[in-house]
Amino acid sequence: MSYHYDDQNIFAKILRGEIPNSTVLETAHSLAFNDINPLAPVHVLVIPRGPYVCYDHFALEASDEEILDFTRAVGQVCRMLGVQADDAGDGCRLIANAGANGVQEVPHLHVHVLGGRMLGRMLARA
Ligand code: 5GP
Repeated sequence: MSYHYDDQNIFAKILRGEIPNSTVLETAHSLAFNDINPLAPVHVLVIPRGPYVCYDHFALEASDEEILDFTRAVGQVCRMLGVQADDAGDGCRLIANAGANGVQEVPHLHVHVLGGRMLGRMLARA
């Protein structure tokens, strides 16, 4: 099975400049911006500029350069916002929802960077 990218999704529109965003970081292959409905004091979305639906799609089809850029962008955002997990930061949670069971709302790969408060355990038991 292959992935089909919908270029009318909201993040594609943000990347094309059709919808405004609150930018945190821009790199050659990635964009980070504040989530419109933040669930924590820090809630940033990091997305690749390329048309990838989810992490699996990205890992399968993105170039090494895109993957390197995106991986570094996620780390850079954490450090910029002071939520990295070293001696100077309080830590964070990175989430990449995918597909139906992951309850992914926007079908363009995004990593949520959440922090700025104690986030509790990862999941409640079903
Ligand atoms: P998902 O459920 O797909 O992992 O997360 C999608 C995220 O995108 C949600 O946290 C939602 O608040 C955010 N979002 C949806 N529409 C917009 C928008 O137009 N601008 C921004 N900045 N975030 C959005």
